[in-house]
Amino acid sequence: MAQENIESTLHEDRQFPPSKAFVDTASLHAEQLEALYQRAEQDHEGFWADVARAEIDWKQPFAKTLDDSNAPHYRWFPDGKLNVSYNCLDRQLEKNADKTAIIFEGEQGDVEHISYRDLHQRVCVFANALKAQGVTKGDRVVIYMPMITEAVIAMQACARIGAIHSVVFGGFSASSLKDRIEDTGAKLVITADGGHRGGKIVELKNTTDQALDGACDTVETVIVFKRTGHDVRMNPSRDVWWTDITRDQPDTCEPEWMDAADPLFLLYTSGSTGKPKGIQHGCGGYLLNAITSMRWVFDIQDSDVFWCTADVGWITGHTYVAYGPLATGATQVIYEGVPTVPDAGRFWDVCQRHGVTIFYTAPTAIRALMKVGDDVPKGYDLSALRLLGTVGEPINPEAWMWYYNVIGGGRCPIVDTWWQTETGAHMIAPVPGVTHAKPGSCTRPLPGIDAAIVNDDGEEITKANQGGYLVIRKPWPSMIQTIWGDDQRYKDTYWPYFDGKFYLAGDSARQDVDGFYWIMGRIDDVLNVSGHRLGTMEIESALVAHPKVAEAAVVGRPHDVKGEAVFAYVVLKGERPEGGIDDEMTQELRNWVGTEIGPIAKPDDIRYSDNLPKTRSGKIMRRLLRAIAKGEEITQDTSTLENESILLQLQGKA
Ligand code: ATP
Ligand code: MG
Repeated sequence: MAQENIESTLHEDRQFPPSKAFVDTASLHAEQLEALYQRAEQDHEGFWADVARAEIDWKQPFAKTLDDSNAPHYRWFPDGKLNVSYNCLDRQLEKNADKTAIIFEGEQGDVEHISYRDLHQRVCVFANALKAQGVTKGDRVVIYMPMITEAVIAMQACARIGAIHSVVFGGFSASSLKDRIEDTGAKLVITADGGHRGGKIVELKNTTDQALDGACDTVETVIVFKRTGHDVRMNPSRDVWWTDITRDQPDTCEPEWMDAADPLFLLYTSGSTGKPKGIQHGCGGYLLNAITSMRWVFDIQDSDVFWCTADVGWITGHTYVAYGPLATGATQVIYEGVPTVPDAGRFWDVCQRHGVTIFYTAPTAIRALMKVGDDVPKGYDLSALRLLGTVGEPINPEAWMWYYNVIGGGRCPIVDTWWQTETGAHMIAPVPGVTHAKPGSCTRPLPGIDAAIVNDDGEEITKANQGGYLVIRKPWPSMIQTIWGDDQRYKDTYWPYFDGKFYLAGDSARQDVDGFYWIMGRIDDVLNVSGHRLGTMEIESALVAHPKVAEAAVVGRPHDVKGEAVFAYVVLKGERPEGGIDDEMTQELRNWVGTEIGPIAKPDDIRYSDNLPKTRSGKIMRRLLRAIAKGEEITQDTSTLENESILLQLQGKA
């Protein structure tokens, strides 16, 4: 029996077409986009085959487009051979050798411009060094680095020699690092003495030592890059300095020609909903969608200065720092530190000084920067910006409007990009020269992406504004290949329903009357209030729309009569009320939600805190809030939690 659909309560009718100035210079226009959609609709595989031939330099062209004999482990372009690093670097040398590939800025202000020629050489040198350390095709290499150019060099060097990299975010603890190293069975770890973050040194080498202490038997070598120059202990039988092993290496390196479906990397998900999963991506398909999304969604052009603020420890930092910008010959900014050093103007200062034209960040960063007020960004010249993007969580319409007006000066389209570690690249996102954006909507699936919304029986929901499960019905090139070492978990997690017919994304969504998609939250987080199923995003957005609210998260708490009651956690723009309780403010917010979306969504309880529990990638961890709302002890996996101390405050213990 199909359950009730998920109900929508958010009313958001504002529309923002791209300006004429943007459309005039955009590379993709309405007719061309329509042609792409039509071609993909008529011949899904043929469409992707065409694009793959046009966008990738193949060592050996593929004859077969898709091997589905072992579905859902799909293999794209199975008989094609290529190298991802070759496609990112070597093929830029002809025309773009002197073009700046990377503008690196350290947190302490050091700046370096690196050309494609230079980057190619450094990658080749390091690739040769890895080979000399005994790394060969198929070996796993864990990268635990600060957000510096060498992190990208390490990834590219692995790709060049066919080693499978697994980047672990530099903010993770020794035990998180150890778990990931052990899961991958890595032979080698690449780290640094430390990195600069938040005005402090992150002790990467010490943490690596702790992780390896008495564990991770597979690791033979640790390569250490000297970044901070502070003292670290070197274990002579295991540790080598990056400079020592690269000193005598040649600056060319023949790429390893890989089958398109050979693994390129493993990356563990953020852990918002549970224990992180080692997502495996392949070479050809992944690269293809990294490139197509750079073109279709970011409208990347030769003169752009692209800045994706994500760390390489997340998928966003893989696709839109380490691979996509390089594969399209772009100039990009890499920034080592946090947005608040020396002050909350740092992002805008970087944009101004380096002339950033495309800026891509997460809603959590936008909300945090919005909280400090308009005066900060207004002190900078942001006129070079032409396109803004967001990823990671649903963006509340209020934050969208602020981003649009205050950062984009009302002139820059915003691309709200829905995708996942598992999808490898953007799936649902605007095409900025064409789409009329709506605040809070990721708009339409990209060409060749067959998204749909279904109910519990797997039937497509076609009625406007009825929420259900977001699924993808046809395989796409950059899709997850498997969960490393756990094919069964891969099938159980992503193909559990409907006889394995659809990829289940794990998010709930609705389509509006124009067919635009609105993500409503995670399936696990859906509330059931008096028989009404409600997504988290819409109630949170109503709260954030209140002038005094900076951030909000809602969860359900068991309730005798209603089934579940709405429990809200709110961060105010001003001070946190004493003890996290403020009856007057709560009444005001209850009334506000009542008028904004209706009485059903009124929170029964509101607790105020200085922050919300977030993953290290900046996403709200509602599963912890749910436990707190129920008064339970927290026994779940908190290894990816950013700010453990906030839990005490939320539990009313601080
Ligand atoms: P885990 O799978 O371990 O719980 P995670 O889902 O947070 O972690 P990611 O792959 O980094 O790991 O995030 C993908 C998820 O982020 C999506 O499923 C969706 O919930 C959310 N998301 C990403 N981009 C958007 C967006 N533009 N709008 C709404 N939600 C988004
Ligand atoms: Mg997920």
